[in-house]
Amino acid sequence: MTLSSVPLATSDIQIPGARRNSTLICVPIVADSVDQMLGQIRKAKEVGGDVVEIRLDYLKNFSPRQDLQFLVKQSPLPTLVTYRPTWEGGQYDGDEGKRLDALRLAIELGADYIDVELQVAPEFINSIQGKTSGKVKIIVSSHNYQNTPSAEELGNLVARIQATGADIVKIATTALDITDCARIFQVLTHSQVPTIGIAMAERGLISRILSAKFGSYLTFGSLEAGVASAPGQPTVKDLLDLYNFRQIGPDTKVHGVIGKPIGHSKSPHLYNAAFKSVGFNGIYLPLLVDSVKNFLTTYSSPDFVGYSYTIPHKEDGLRCCDEIDPIAQAIGAISCMIRRPTDGKLMGYNVDYLGAIAAIEEGLRASNGTTNVGSPLAGKLFVVIGAGGAGKALAYGGKEKGARVVVANRTFEKAQELASKVGGEAMTLAELENFHPEDGMILANTTSVGMKPNIDNTPLSKKALSRYSLVFDAIYTPKLTRLLREAQESGAIIVYGTEMFINQAFVQFERFTGLPAPKELIREVLVRNT
Ligand code: NAP
Repeated sequence: MTLSSVPLATSDIQIPGARRNSTLICVPIVADSVDQMLGQIRKAKEVGGDVVEIRLDYLKNFSPRQDLQFLVKQSPLPTLVTYRPTWEGGQYDGDEGKRLDALRLAIELGADYIDVELQVAPEFINSIQGKTSGKVKIIVSSHNYQNTPSAEELGNLVARIQATGADIVKIATTALDITDCARIFQVLTHSQVPTIGIAMAERGLISRILSAKFGSYLTFGSLEAGVASAPGQPTVKDLLDLYNFRQIGPDTKVHGVIGKPIGHSKSPHLYNAAFKSVGFNGIYLPLLVDSVKNFLTTYSSPDFVGYSYTIPHKEDGLRCCDEIDPIAQAIGAISCMIRRPTDGKLMGYNVDYLGAIAAIEEGLRASNGTTNVGSPLAGKLFVVIGAGGAGKALAYGGKEKGARVVVANRTFEKAQELASKVGGEAMTLAELENFHPEDGMILANTTSVGMKPNIDNTPLSKKALSRYSLVFDAIYTPKLTRLLREAQESGAIIVYGTEMFINQAFVQFERFTGLPAPKELIREVLVRNT
């Protein structure tokens, strides 16, 4: 059975440039001095923030009236004043009365928002009753740095915050697993009052970006990477330019790359730019997933529609499919999963082999100067290092093109297993060092040896490389791996992993959107980001 691409609904196309949500981007201002803070506030406006959060607890010397007046009056953006005590994860460990006085003063001086911690909120709100101009909005916040409580506990927490008379509810929890974000989305969806919902830490990133889809009052974006006020905060630039934050709407379709680790992935740059260029109403996220099964069971709504799979989840992904493309089934791993809109079934594909084999064939054709219809791989001795997801894709791809396949792998049993499936020969990495039955062999590295940050490593010695006429490396960070550099120095044609990546990206884009891939743009984005 061949699985066709998903038909496109008209709601999947959006008007270019239109803002599709009212979620504000709030930039935390976390400098030591008032002057530095003002510099940051101005920068926050330049980079596209909507609100600044003045974190008084970061100031080394603070003269309440003078400094607040200066900051609130000078700010070109609406101000949220926060004076976070250490007992709620902030920097201030002084007198509590003085802290709350400063917040009251901020209201008097015209701050647009005040953040007050749930623990002191009832007393604080009582103390300002009837004394504010009515302009200020009180955010009552609760921070949990340990975990994300159950949906029921979060519901109770929201009710407690609402009962204080808060204008805006803020709940920040810690994501220990990506599925924790779903409970934050539930809070946002069901809350009757304006609510800010965030799951902090690396596994909570999607809560900060999809805040726009689920209607959070605001999300936080830092000015620069590394100066975040809470773990897992993206930069404003990433929110706006990488994730097209303003274009995310309640009906935006969610895609992403499932892996662990995933921070290095270039895929979000590529697909988000490509979605935007054709006006497709979709977002593509890095998904740091611990259990594929839990992830798919939790995010089972029709809006979570398409995924790429990478290390170490390609085999697990396959086990979670409702239907599997025969090639993916034979390989035993998927690289792409689509939720069929008609019945929500999860369909798995392996498009890795299409990308890699096409790239190697192009390299061979270019070197032979031929445009033969038959595959230039036919009859060739094709050595695949690695027997994981990419290794299987290359070995099956090579077999399909009529090559004689050899598999070498660190774990020899896996090499044997794969070699027997593709009717090839298995060997150890040590044996490969002296393997030279004929000239003109082709080598494909599919291990992660040589991948960033371990760029000085290589899976095969330079001496052994001289026996190959073409060397391909699946790694694409860095583009020129040590293996490829030494192969080039030894006179072989080299084929970059980026070519495999690009070719399979074209295919995946078409599966995700039902539209032809903007090939030039995808190439440009990849060049810019590698
Ligand atoms: P995988 O399923 O986890 O397989 C990893 C392979 O690397 C296994 O064969 C493993 O050997 C081997 N390996 C890992 N560390 C090793 C070491 N220190 N020494 C020797 N062998 C080692 O991963 P995958 O999905 O196949 O991905 C592998 C590489 O291909 C990654 O760098 C990935 O980024 C790249 N890739 C690129 C593209 C692209 O589009 N260019 C697409 C897919 C993958 P054992 O069996 O002994 O553990």
